[in-house]
Amino acid sequence: MAEPAYSLLPDTGEPGFGVYVHWPFCAAKCPYCDFNSHVRHQPVDQERFAAAFLKEMATMRQFSGPKVVTSVFLGGGTPSLMKPETVAAILDGIARHWHMPDGIEITMEANPSSVEATRFRGYRAAGVNRVSLGVQALNDRDLKFLGRLHDVEDALKAIRLAREIFPRMSFDLIYARPEQTVEAWEQELRQAISYAVDHLSLYQLTIEEGTPFFGLHRAGKLIVPDGDQSALLYEATQEITAREGLPAYEVSNHARPGAESRHNLTYWRYGDYAGIGPGAHGRLSHGANRIATATERKPESWLEMVERDGHGMIDQEILGYEEQADELLLMGLRLKEGVDLARWQELSGRDPDPRREETLLEHGFIERLGNSRLRCTPSGMLILDAVVADLAC
Ligand code: SF4
Repeated sequence: MAEPAYSLLPDTGEPGFGVYVHWPFCAAKCPYCDFNSHVRHQPVDQERFAAAFLKEMATMRQFSGPKVVTSVFLGGGTPSLMKPETVAAILDGIARHWHMPDGIEITMEANPSSVEATRFRGYRAAGVNRVSLGVQALNDRDLKFLGRLHDVEDALKAIRLAREIFPRMSFDLIYARPEQTVEAWEQELRQAISYAVDHLSLYQLTIEEGTPFFGLHRAGKLIVPDGDQSALLYEATQEITAREGLPAYEVSNHARPGAESRHNLTYWRYGDYAGIGPGAHGRLSHGANRIATATERKPESWLEMVERDGHGMIDQEILGYEEQADELLLMGLRLKEGVDLARWQELSGRDPDPRREETLLEHGFIERLGNSRLRCTPSGMLILDAVVADLAC
């Protein structure tokens, strides 16, 4: 199969329009994961799911109207458990419902335990041009602790294969693991950078309610680094990635300039996106309204709803201007480029409270970029939620 030619369209700086498709199945459930992912011991009927994705797309297309797609993201779950034919059907469906120019970013998440060359080539032939690998750690002890099914050898094999087959690739690591020292993390991060191409996602381990880690943590059987240690790990991450040419463009995402994830930029620039599949969220402009959509999380219930009603939406909320302004701030302050103040003022109908802004400026948590943008400083990023809450009031 000939691989499609690919040259990434330049980033216009605009929010864009993304399509997110959620594949909700995994081979095993990781103990820290609170994503909408499910383990099934019977084979999943992929044709039936693909048909339902297409049906729900048709409904989302009615909401969004005609749009030019600027990125597609196949997330999960573990989308690399999909057959290439399923991926091809989904991408064909998107192209039928919206305009999908050549050169847009089409990302698929993949797990090193479910990677093999033939399938990777099949995804590439279907149109996927960027893969995001869930590597998570580069030592076997921590991979086991994180409940991952792969070891370091599998991860390195997957990275090599992804580099060979896809024009763009990224991988994720989780840090701030129990007993992780700054020195050990620095060493692991340098090793990761030596395998990276132009993008890395580096997340701190968070203990989410309802997960096995949450129970262990509450029982005192799982100790994670405290705030000070996490801050040291975060600072080391920023310093090393910046020095190595992969600076943060978002709290947890690092790229060489121009290699930022277009899809995630759409979220953080508060653009529109259609969320397809079980438990997917979307933001769609419909006339003068902006609608937040959410679908049924349980895969089989979602499937039945789509087959019956044409969609699995359980929530369609019209967002007020104030809510949109808060969301814009919440998303935009994650970015190094910050938020467009004129857009925020238009939505919220006001300027940032001068006293609150002054206090945050004095403490060095935020800074102005000329008169038009506001962003968090590196120390502000460490207390991002508090900064957002302060400005949004
Ligand atoms: S592979 Fe990813 S989505 Fe699946 S359970 Fe693990 S962390 Fe969650």
